[in-house]
Amino acid sequence: MRVLIAEDTIISRHLLEATLRKWGYDVLVACDGVQAKDILLREDSPRLAVLDWMMPGFTGPDLCKLVRQLKREPYTYILLLTSRSLKGDLIEGMEAGADDYLVKPFDEHELKVRLRAGRRIVELNAELFEIRESLREQATRDSLTGLWNRHAILEILARELERTRREAKPVGLIMLDLDHFKRINDGYGHLTGDQVLRESSARMQMSVRAYDAVGRYGGEEFLIVLPGCDAVATEQQAERIRRVIASSPIPTCTGEIRLTASVGATVAVESDYATNPERMLRTADLALYDAKGRGRNCVTFRRLHYVPEPEPETESFLSA
Ligand code: GH3
Ligand code: MG
Ligand code: MG
Ligand code: MG
Repeated sequence: MRVLIAEDTIISRHLLEATLRKWGYDVLVACDGVQAKDILLREDSPRLAVLDWMMPGFTGPDLCKLVRQLKREPYTYILLLTSRSLKGDLIEGMEAGADDYLVKPFDEHELKVRLRAGRRIVELNAELFEIRESLREQATRDSLTGLWNRHAILEILARELERTRREAKPVGLIMLDLDHFKRINDGYGHLTGDQVLRESSARMQMSVRAYDAVGRYGGEEFLIVLPGCDAVATEQQAERIRRVIASSPIPTCTGEIRLTASVGATVAVESDYATNPERMLRTADLALYDAKGRGRNCVTFRRLHYVPEPEPETESFLSA
């Protein structure tokens, strides 16, 4: 495991470095508070740190505060080294965010067991961090295609619509449905169907910008959210995706399969102040339905049309 040691006194530093190396640690050395800060600020800084209290530049407690402010994950475990043994000082160090302390000159055996405890916490924390990341991934990603799942893409659409309102920027929405997909399943089997879904998803993802979001809305239906795209840009993007899917046959284990998609597109602009995700989805769905009706493998664009909310029923003569 990688560990940072920061100690300005040469003899102590060499002793500490040699001892930790002997125990198999991968040691990074800082000779003062400034060097230690540089290392701690790196994205890949060690998760275990042994910091001297008194150092030029920044003290051990200064560095503890800095690391805790960063709230970096996984956690950085900090062991403070101090020649002071006054209780008040130790409390100050712990309040600054240190996890443990050791009074200098340190006892080798004590350092060994305390480092081991720190290491265990770092390892447990890294495991928890990984589990949480993988749960987050499972909750938001579609397992077959790796695209955003239905729940996540709808959340992204709602969030981007909010932003449209705040920043007065448009947002485009594309709804895409693969044509005659049932025939692929029926003719080649479900596994091949899955392969085709994966490859067409990859093609969609490849044809959009980094800040666009592609999600699987249903079986062979997809949603693409295009922040900042007006009507012209959205329609162009829809056409580009349609073309990429139809451009070349998809290689599968049962041979090459030609595939097309029908695409509906719409856009919400600043003046669509009352737009909500449902209305955009309904409009994109109608546009997609038009595209299917026009013979498939094409793009249809529809403007959002304002559907007035039904008037609340008057109760005047009921309550009279
Ligand atoms: P259209 O051009 O009108 O859209 O015809 P279609 O055959 O694509 O539409 P339909 O809704 O009749 O069929 C969709 C098919 O997609 C039916 C369903 O079995 C298949 N499908 C949905 N999800 C999956 C999946 O995860 N894997 C596979 N292999 N097939 C799927
Ligand atoms: Mg010192
Ligand atoms: Mg279909
Ligand atoms: Mg469908």
